[in-house]
Amino acid sequence: MNRKEIWVYLERNQEEIEEVSLEILGKANELGKKSGMPVVGVVLGNDPGDLGNIALKHGADVVIFLKDPLLESYSTEDYTKALFEMIGKRTPEIFLLGATYQGRDLAGRLSARLRTGLTANVVSLDIGEDGYLLSGVPGYGSKVLAEIVCVRNKPQMSTVRPGIFNKTVIPNEAGIVEVVDIDLKDSVSRVKVLSRKVEKHPDLSRAEKVVIAGNGVEGNLDMVARLADILGARLGVSRPIADKGKASRELQVGSTGYSLNAKLVLIFGVSGAEHFLPGIANCQTVISINVDRESGIFEYSDYCIVADASKIIPILLKEGGDR
Ligand SMILES: Cc1cc2nc3c(=O)[nH]c(=O)nc-3n(C[C@H](O)[C@H](O)[C@H](O)COP(=O)(O)OP(=O)(O)OC[C@H]3O[C@@H](n4cnc5c(N)ncnc54)[C@H](O)[C@@H]3O)c2cc1C
Repeated sequence: MNRKEIWVYLERNQEEIEEVSLEILGKANELGKKSGMPVVGVVLGNDPGDLGNIALKHGADVVIFLKDPLLESYSTEDYTKALFEMIGKRTPEIFLLGATYQGRDLAGRLSARLRTGLTANVVSLDIGEDGYLLSGVPGYGSKVLAEIVCVRNKPQMSTVRPGIFNKTVIPNEAGIVEVVDIDLKDSVSRVKVLSRKVEKHPDLSRAEKVVIAGNGVEGNLDMVARLADILGARLGVSRPIADKGKASRELQVGSTGYSLNAKLVLIFGVSGAEHFLPGIANCQTVISINVDRESGIFEYSDYCIVADASKIIPILLKEGGDR
């Protein structure tokens, strides 16, 4: 029996639910009202704590807690196995996840196992007149929005970019939390978590000010980082800098990194490639510094400075009181 439910994967950060999951719940609630489908938040772990109630306050009608000691920490194989079994039993219509590193990892594996379609990095969601999920993905440097529909298989799956939808409190007195024991005795996970490092900073998509270092300032990353510090901004990088191991992947901006929602972004030595641009499409003010007058990044910038970053950054640092 198809229960026609909208499922939202609730990514857990210890005893908290990641912001993006709560944002998606709010949007799913809106889609649920439009389509008549209940919204089910799904969370995996060993101790349900207060997670269910948090989700019920943010748009879920029902929360399913999949419980097993092996689910305490994320692992691709065990999480996929648990969700695959549960999806097989309840056959949801739609399954939404955050486009975080964990969400992307899990969604890819799960969609392949379910043999269903997956739309990645979605920035808009709606239900069409025919009842299908419409997932909007920007293309051509965010100049067009392609609406992608998965018509053949279920569930229709999408990963949603953080910071796109607003988290809302939606009172719900009648919500239910179901705790389901999952048996992972036969776990084949090849990954064992030895220790956990909890990131102190919220992810880059929440930062108000970001300074981005591109390939053109590869040799001056320390200076760019100091400038970010002085400005009270977070540091971001383009992909080549992360690929070369010169900065953490957690700092990458772009289609396979973070999408910023900053009020101010200062960009040094980035060419403005198609895969970089979605990362800055939602920023209010973009200032770019590039030696190349013809650089593509200028087309997407509010202020364009043609200059050698290695000369301009020391001046800015001095102005900011750096020693
Ligand atoms: C599937 C896929 C996904 C991708 N995802 C991402 C992603 O998420 N994020 C991302 O960034 N890229 C991504 N890429 C890579 C992307 O296509 C580009 O290769 C990358 O964005 C280029 O980075 P860059 O602009 O820093 O480097 P470059 O293209 O090398 O540009 C360097 C720029 O610095 C300028 N410059 C050089 N020296 C100076 C100086 N002294 N002062 C000032 N300016 C200087 C140059 O004029 C040039 O414009 C992806 C690619 C693929 C295929």
